[in-house]
Amino acid sequence: MSASRSLLVVGGGPVGLAAAILGRMDGHEVTLIERGRPPVDKPCGEGLMPSGVLRLQAMGVTLDPEGLHPFMGVRYIDGEREAGARFTFGEGYGCRRTYLQAAMARRAEELGVALHFGQEVVAVDADQGEVRTADGQTFRAELVLAADGLRSTVRKLLQLDGPPPSRPRFGMRQHYTIKPWTDEVEVYWSDTAEAYVTPVGPNRVGVAFLWSGDGERFPGLLSRFPALQERLGDAPIESQVRGTGPLQVRPKAVLKGKVALIGDAAGYFDAITGEGLTLGFAQAATVLKHVEEGRLQDWPKSHRGLVIEPYLMIHLLLFIERYPPLRRRVIAALSKDPELFEQLLQINDGLLRPHELPPKAILRLVWRVLWGVG
Ligand SMILES: Cc1cc2nc3c(=O)[nH]c(=O)nc-3n(C[C@H](O)[C@H](O)[C@H](O)COP(=O)(O)OP(=O)(O)OC[C@H]3O[C@@H](n4cnc5c(N)ncnc54)[C@H](O)[C@@H]3O)c2cc1C
Repeated sequence: MSASRSLLVVGGGPVGLAAAILGRMDGHEVTLIERGRPPVDKPCGEGLMPSGVLRLQAMGVTLDPEGLHPFMGVRYIDGEREAGARFTFGEGYGCRRTYLQAAMARRAEELGVALHFGQEVVAVDADQGEVRTADGQTFRAELVLAADGLRSTVRKLLQLDGPPPSRPRFGMRQHYTIKPWTDEVEVYWSDTAEAYVTPVGPNRVGVAFLWSGDGERFPGLLSRFPALQERLGDAPIESQVRGTGPLQVRPKAVLKGKVALIGDAAGYFDAITGEGLTLGFAQAATVLKHVEEGRLQDWPKSHRGLVIEPYLMIHLLLFIERYPPLRRRVIAALSKDPELFEQLLQINDGLLRPHELPPKAILRLVWRVLWGVG
């Protein structure tokens, strides 16, 4: 182990907390500043992929079963068409954000992270590794990890915000008190939006919508998915609607002076593949490895390496999302080839590299899509 360093984490969402936990496990002195108070909520589909579950377990985080429902695969539903794939390794967790954040905060506290909740960072000095909070306190460390989310204040203060997306997409979610009817995450497709249905408790289901263009409301989005609407029936609503967007964020850089951006603060593409948390945990682990090895200057390169394959999958899905007839053909073709769908899930979870896909399976998919054989 290298010498103990002082780390300051801005943002107590899952990625900031992961960095704080891993930092303490490596023996560093860690301070975390979060503007909210636990349990902090956020619009999210709340599906944690199997490799994210393993990372959470390795951090020693124990989730309250009340906020948890394991899931074993993903199912695409597009009108009459359905294609499903099961995980070939491990299980995913549908975990209500409030429970996840609270459990991670408990673990960070247990390990001795100095937690400052209810304090908002309003100024940052990247050369000094110093931040100031709204109540006038100053914190300084050898390294600042900014994990303050999609609309990162630190990124903005450091003038690292990139250009706005050309086709903005948005997300919105709400929870229902209803016994989950499946052990899969269901993705309902329509020509104008997608609905993600995740079991997130023994008696709770989360519904998240993604769409492009602004100005939508939850009931209007739900009405585009009659099958889902019927499933939910008159189940009681148990959370307020929360939305966010535009989802795509491309910072100019992820490192400036003593400040490294991680998680959504370091960039985000889209929630369509549901891998944000897993990718964020991987980023926290990698940046900490660079701290251990004293080569933080390599973080931008490592960050690019971590996001390149997940972003490729997002590109592919956004492409079929834009062309409904193509999307219908792809889903019909996947329904005939669950093994290929499973392999695509493995790529999404970082368990398989795209070039490891069997060429025959790709050709079969292309052939089926071209000839509309479903
Ligand atoms: C609609 C939608 C659905 C999604 N579905 C999934 C899914 O199913 N699975 C998945 O893995 N990912 C999903 N994601 C992505 C996932 O939510 C994010 O990737 C993840 O939350 C990133 O975590 P984070 O800790 O980087 O940021 P956040 O969770 O946003 O946490 C940032 C924290 O920083 C704090 N903060 C902000 N500014 C300041 C400040 N100035 N001072 C102090 N604190 C501050 C905030 O209060 C917040 O707690 C989805 C995203 C959206 C929008």
